[in-house]
Amino acid sequence: MTTGSAKEYQRLPFKVDPFRFAHDAVELDSRLPLTQMKRLSAMLYQPDGTVSISLAFAVDALGISILRGRVQASLDLICQRCLEPVHVDIDAPLALGFARSEAGLEQVSSEFEAIQVEDGQVNLLDLLEDEIMLALPQIPRHEENECQASTMADAPEIIEARPEKRENPFSVLAGLKVDKEN
Ligand SMILES: [Zn+2]
Repeated sequence: MTTGSAKEYQRLPFKVDPFRFAHDAVELDSRLPLTQMKRLSAMLYQPDGTVSISLAFAVDALGISILRGRVQASLDLICQRCLEPVHVDIDAPLALGFARSEAGLEQVSSEFEAIQVEDGQVNLLDLLEDEIMLALPQIPRHEENECQASTMADAPEIIEARPEKRENPFSVLAGLKVDKEN
């Protein structure tokens, strides 16, 4: 007999019918490699590691299909000052409410993020990836004293692409015209 101390992980189904899952009160604990989340991976220094997911579907008192849970990930983002990896731990709570139509979205209580379900299915992977991306800092960067850039004497704060000034050809013509008139 097992004591149940070790958490069992299930494979995360990507496409699910949230209404059926809510009706069946499905609970899921899953882990998946960060590389499965393509949009997120593209923002990382290196897409190493896993995302831990804990989900519980239910039907709330108003009869709305809901999903509560959390997503956790340990990420190496790119510091926008020195371009070196900056570590960020994400622990984002989830509270989603599903609706079949636009009108149904208004039925979802305000503590949930209302999601309109098309074709009776949602892509869980996309939903979870969205939640992680929302939880990321807008401009990832090290603390001042930990940043490589602050130890370099001439490090630019932010590297900006400056548009080159171009001579306006008409300004030359305008000058000629004025000369003539004088
Ligand atoms: Zn830095």
